[in-house]
Amino acid sequence: MFDKFHEECGVFAIYGHREASALAKLGVYALQHRGQESAGIASADSKDVYCHKAMGHVSDIFTAEIINSLPGDKAISHTRYSTAGDTVVLNAQPFCVATNKGRIAIAHNGNITNAKEIRRTLEQEGAIFSASSDTEVVLHLLSRSRQKTLAAALRDALLQLEGAFSLVLLARDQIIVARDPHGFRPMAMGYMELSGDRFSYVFASETCAFDLIGAVYIGDVEPGEMVTVSAGGLHRERFAPVQPKSQCVFEHVYFARPDSMVFGRSVQTSREQMGRRLARQSPVEADVVVPLPDSGVAPAIGYSAESGIPFRMGLIRNHYVGRTFIEPSQAIRDFGVRLKLNPIRSLLEGKRVVLVDDSIVRGTTSRKIVRMVRSAGAKEVHLRISCPPTISPCFYGVDTPTKNELIAANHTVDEIRRYVEADSLEYLSLTNLRQSVEDERVEYCYACYTGDYPTELVNIEELMKSKTVTS
Ligand code: AMP
Repeated sequence: MFDKFHEECGVFAIYGHREASALAKLGVYALQHRGQESAGIASADSKDVYCHKAMGHVSDIFTAEIINSLPGDKAISHTRYSTAGDTVVLNAQPFCVATNKGRIAIAHNGNITNAKEIRRTLEQEGAIFSASSDTEVVLHLLSRSRQKTLAAALRDALLQLEGAFSLVLLARDQIIVARDPHGFRPMAMGYMELSGDRFSYVFASETCAFDLIGAVYIGDVEPGEMVTVSAGGLHRERFAPVQPKSQCVFEHVYFARPDSMVFGRSVQTSREQMGRRLARQSPVEADVVVPLPDSGVAPAIGYSAESGIPFRMGLIRNHYVGRTFIEPSQAIRDFGVRLKLNPIRSLLEGKRVVLVDDSIVRGTTSRKIVRMVRSAGAKEVHLRISCPPTISPCFYGVDTPTKNELIAANHTVDEIRRYVEADSLEYLSLTNLRQSVEDERVEYCYACYTGDYPTELVNIEELMKSKTVTS
């Protein structure tokens, strides 16, 4: 059952703080939007590595009692999202194991595209795997390395991997943080000032985790870089040759929190720019701009500011319902939209509405919302999407369904417009998206919009097939 090819996750690490596990809880709590299915913390002191993980939300899992059972001045934490068939605690992270390099814990965000091939080879040689997650492959490679130090063994392992990984590793005496040579997934680095001129170093998928714990963002772990923090201080090194960067643009479109800096850039700024450019690119005469909360809010603010059409929160979200997209069956997904959103009739009745969302995947959400807005009395509904049509699945860590299920892979924009029953439908162009994220140096991955994958995918057919199994 090794068929998982999309790990949307949040990771966090801290070194040198006596309340490391409590801070690791807060860090990953701020990253809860990156995955709601399972969460885990591993901590370490000079004697041992300790771990607790479970299915569910961070705030429910980590009671004060459990945090107290995770001692030490260093910790890593993880929150994970997964799809049907793979929802078992065995796959929850961090993975905590005893190796010939000592006890370690590891947590990972991204998707290793050659994990299946590596695993097959290792299994033929007698290796035993307990989970279906690709992270376990890294542990096996690390453990088999002839190198003596943990950092050198990890380097050996990482050089065999392809695809996306931003990972954190914990041992009794150090933490190591690494990012794949293309830098698909984010990994921010920061510090907390302690008394007596001492520092605690922190790492997180997004800087909103730093804001919560009062840490200062100093920059990103660079693609192809490995950062080790130990009693000797912080050490940065390249583990792989420089490659063109392919940072995931979808982090800016949808995935990250707007109050985060991702790849050194404010997510809110990118999203407002997307909305502004969309308004210039695809104007329409209308009375109100209404976002699909929460993902459409920032681009709708931009669209409204640029067009002069008033912004109205015409749809109200129930915040206690999980993301509808996460529901495994189509029947529940359909129901979920109504559970999640309710229109305000007094704001929509008789109005020409510009409805703004970040993306259309299968088209089911848009269709329901357009109907909902119309049934609340809207005269016209003009749908504006703050990214280009999603035409190809992601193999680098974002959950997208198979190509067959991606409505834009198989239909023209006008066919989609008819399907979602909008009066007009426009997507942000790729050029405008690139300008919105200030991509002068082509540092982002746009594979979901272009089908051009930035790494060689030797097993592309298998990857495509696996998408069918899991999505
Ligand atoms: P759909 O109904 O399949 O067209 O889903 C579109 C909605 O899903 C949009 O409102 C997006 O904000 C949201 N969405 C897009 N990509 C993802 C993703 N990878 N994970 C969760 N939600 C997503």
